[in-house]
Parts: sequence; structure tokens; C-alpha cells
Amino acid sequence: MLNILVCVKQIPDIDLVRMDPETGNLVREGVPTLTNPLDLNALEAAVRVKERYGGHITLITMGPPMAESTLRECLAVGGDEAVLISGRPFGGADTLSTSYSIVKAAEMLGNFDLIFCGKESMDGATGQMASQLAERFNASQISCCSKIEEISGGKIRALRTLEKGTELVEADLPCLLTVEKDNFFGRLPNLEAYLASKKAEIRVLTENTIDGLEMEKIGVPGSGTIVPEIYAPKLPEPGQIIKTGSVKTDVGRLMSLLVEKGSV
Ligand SMILES: Cc1cc2nc3c(=O)[nH]c(=O)nc-3n(C[C@H](O)[C@H](O)[C@H](O)COP(=O)(O)OP(=O)(O)OC[C@H]3O[C@@H](n4cnc5c(N)ncnc54)[C@H](O)[C@@H]3O)c2cc1C
Repeated sequence: MLNILVCVKQIPDIDLVRMDPETGNLVREGVPTLTNPLDLNALEAAVRVKERYGGHITLITMGPPMAESTLRECLAVGGDEAVLISGRPFGGADTLSTSYSIVKAAEMLGNFDLIFCGKESMDGATGQMASQLAERFNASQISCCSKIEEISGGKIRALRTLEKGTELVEADLPCLLTVEKDNFFGRLPNLEAYLASKKAEIRVLTENTIDGLEMEKIGVPGSGTIVPEIYAPKLPEPGQIIKTGSVKTDVGRLMSLLVEKGSV
């Protein structure tokens, strides 16, 4: 039976989120949240592995207490247990300290054969977490996976989507995978699983309950990223449409405008 970890992240609705110009952080308070869509594709890939080979799926997220709703959503579509890493000292974490915290928590949960991540989050969107986690787990990594062909003998064979074609790769377990969304469209929960997910126990790990956690490696102190400045991009001047109905007049106007702007 395969022991599988799926990393999921709750994100603010990116259409409604704004930046704090003072701190350079996202202002998440009061903004509706959702589960990072690409993480649902990663979970679907994990669930298919579980259905084919047998396995146990642990969901893990680092976030505020409300991230519990993301874990419940994922429990409803195939997760077996869920762990939330939460506590004030984890706040302000960049990818370096987030990956550290996730791996320290995961070490308490067992040895994982497979770890699944989304390709990137829709908010931070650095795409760094998967590689950092693979390194910290001492796992091999297959990114952009479009199909899992075979898992046997401590190895996994999978197809990767490249810009111009597809590649078949083989890697040792433990292996961390990110998946292509098209082939791993997330499923809807059935009623029984949905109701069970509402009552499921969510294990919460804090800075006080994660074994061997070094406080200077989490949250702000553990973060290598500094945001010195943040600003909205300057929008270009809106364009003009010249359409009088007469090509001759349109060209005349266009030429006058170009001369006015010093372009000709
Ligand atoms: C200076 C600074 C301050 C920040 N402060 C905060 C803050 O206070 N609160 C906050 O929430 N974020 C904060 N962030 C953002 C946070 O660092 C990133 O969101 C986080 O490290 C993950 O990076 P990403 O979103 O780019 O992940 P990506 O690398 O784009 O994500 C890839 C995959 O990694 C997994 N993953 C990513 N994040 C998590 C997670 N938290 N739990 C489980 N799996 C995950 C998911 O599977 C995801 O699809 C801050 C960033 C910076 C630079």
C-alpha cells in the first residue's frame, strides 16, 4: 500500500485580493477563499493512484485556521486524513520557510512514497514549492506529469508534457509529482463522502507540537525573501479606434496622429 501526501493550499480569490503597500504582503483578511485549483488536479492524480494500487492519502496544508475548509473539501474527494499546520509564528512565510515547516510536520506523519503538489498556486505562484519539498524530502521529482504509467519495484514511470512532445521518465520512490491539469480533472464528491468530510477530524500541528522545529527557520525569520517595494504596473495609454467609414479619411487621421506624436 502506498503512503501518499498531497500538499494543498487555500488561496484568496485573486480577483478580490490586494497588496499592502507598506509590508508588500497580500491582504487576505475579508477576502473569500478557495482551494488552489491546481491542487485539486494533484489530488485527483493521487486518488487515481490509490484506486489502482491501494494507498492512504494524507492531505497537508499550512495556513490559518480557516484553511480547514480546504482540507474538508479535499477529504470529500478522496483524502483519508488531513493535517493543518497553523500558528502565528508561521505567518509571513516565504517558500523557503513554508517548505521547511511542511516537511518538519510531514516527518511526524510517516514516510511517504509519493508526494503530490500543484504546479503552482494562483496567488503566490512562484512554482518553487514542489522542488523545495522534493529536495527537503530527499525525493526524486517528476514535474508536468500528464500520465502515471506504472508504479512497481520502488520505481514510478510517468509521462511528462514538454513544450514540443512527451517524455517517458522513470524515477525512484519516494517521488514528488506535479501534474498537468488537463488529464487530472478533479471529481465531484458523492453525498456520503461530502457528509463524512464535514465531521472528519482535522489534526492541527502548531509550532509547539511539531517535533524538532527550529523557530528561526519558520515564518518571517526563516524567510529569505524580502519585498523592498510594491507598486501597481503603469497602464499604457488607451488606444484610439479610427473608423469614419472612409479609408481615405481614416488614413489621413492616422497620419496626422503619428505626426502629432512625432512617430513619423
Ligand atoms: C515576504 C513574503 C511574505 C508572505 N507572507 C505570507 C503570509 O503571511 N501568509 C501566506 O499565506 N502567505 C504568505 N506569503 C506567500 C507564501 O510565501 C507562499 O504562498 C508560499 O510560500 C507558497 O508559495 P507559492 O504560493 O508561490 O507556491 P507554489 O510554489 O506556486 O505552489 C506549488 C504547490 O505547493 C503547494 N503549496 C504551496 N503553498 C502551500 C501551503 N501553504 N501548504 C501546503 N501546500 C502548499 C501546493 O501544492 C501548490 O500548488 C508570503 C510571501 C512572501 C514573499
